[in-house]
Amino acid sequence: MIIGCPKEIKPQEFRVGVTPVAAREAVTHGHKVLIEAGAGIGAGFSDADYIEAGAEIADGAADVFARSDMIVKVKEPQAGERKMLREGQVLFTYLHLAPDPDQTRDLLASGCTAIAYETVTDRSGGLPLLAPMSEVAGKLAPQMGAWTLQKANGGRGVLMGGVPGVGPAEVVVIGGGVVGTHAARVAAGMGAKVTVLDRSLPRMRYLDDVFGGQFGTRYASAGNTAELVAQADMVIGAVLVPGAAAPKLVSRAQLSDMKPGAAIVDVAIDQGGCFETSKATTHQDPIYEVDGIMHYCVANMPGAVARTSTLALGNATMPFLIALADKGWKQACTDDPHLLDGLNVHAGKLTNYAVGKALGIDV
Ligand code: NAD
Repeated sequence: MIIGCPKEIKPQEFRVGVTPVAAREAVTHGHKVLIEAGAGIGAGFSDADYIEAGAEIADGAADVFARSDMIVKVKEPQAGERKMLREGQVLFTYLHLAPDPDQTRDLLASGCTAIAYETVTDRSGGLPLLAPMSEVAGKLAPQMGAWTLQKANGGRGVLMGGVPGVGPAEVVVIGGGVVGTHAARVAAGMGAKVTVLDRSLPRMRYLDDVFGGQFGTRYASAGNTAELVAQADMVIGAVLVPGAAAPKLVSRAQLSDMKPGAAIVDVAIDQGGCFETSKATTHQDPIYEVDGIMHYCVANMPGAVARTSTLALGNATMPFLIALADKGWKQACTDDPHLLDGLNVHAGKLTNYAVGKALGIDV
């Protein structure tokens, strides 16, 4: 099979769909790997790295799309890329079709077979190709929040770990899933006093069992949330209600109860955010102030650490990529029901029930 990887063209996207490690693996399995010149630069991989791994460098995206049996990317194909997809070609990438009718229409029209990273599942009901990015965003959140708390950035001027004789920052994490757990661990590691709020008792039991000495847990009732948010130097939003917009858990009125210069890091902003005052920002201009509270709401946080993110995503996608290449998509999806969950579009038909329901299209 010919596996093609074009350079990402979405603004500020520096990740790449195929790492040199994955390219080498595919070549070892007898496949040909075609990488667009410069595709890996943003993540720190040169064309020479890919050549050394046995891949071929293609001159432009058009060449990659024309010659490949399977296209592997990071972000959803942009309008120009969608025009280059064809019947029978496999597309393996993040799609997020539910809120994107234009992309859905184009993918259906192309006749391609599109497998979305974000709907591939695992045995425990998790989303193994989303988890690595949640891990990255979670670990980044306290780092970005600590920067936001600095006086020169409009923050409260509080050091996460304090110093002998001066107490640490108080950090509240709303949502104790993948993002929240990684955020809490890093914040606690920086020396902050951390409390995680969640509504799932099994999840809090797990967190208490494993991390009980490092951070505390509280049930995410409206009252507990209001009390802890008012005491916090930093609040990290990390909730997820699958398939739905994030619930608004902190209102604008509550900002006036918070400490002046406190920092909000709303990681859930890609689902609309869990603070009433959140609006998506970019790495270029990441923070803004509302009623004296600093907000950091970057929707694609993993892009800040494109190399780590690319390597983490590559580790997670590689087994599926190899199965698709070795067996062809049909056999690979027949053998693995979790990969089949990733199938969103095939030959002009939508094939994922949740996506179809969100778009009002019959599946
Ligand atoms: P997850 O499913 O692992 O965890 C979500 C947690 O939220 C669960 O433990 C759940 O019990 C809890 N929860 C749900 N409703 C709640 C409520 N009302 N109060 C308190 N807790 C509640 O999800 P995740 O992978 O940790 O992702 C969290 C969010 O981060 C998602 O919106 C995801 O899209 C987003 N995310 C953003 C970026 C970014 O760059 N901004 C990157 C990765 C993930």
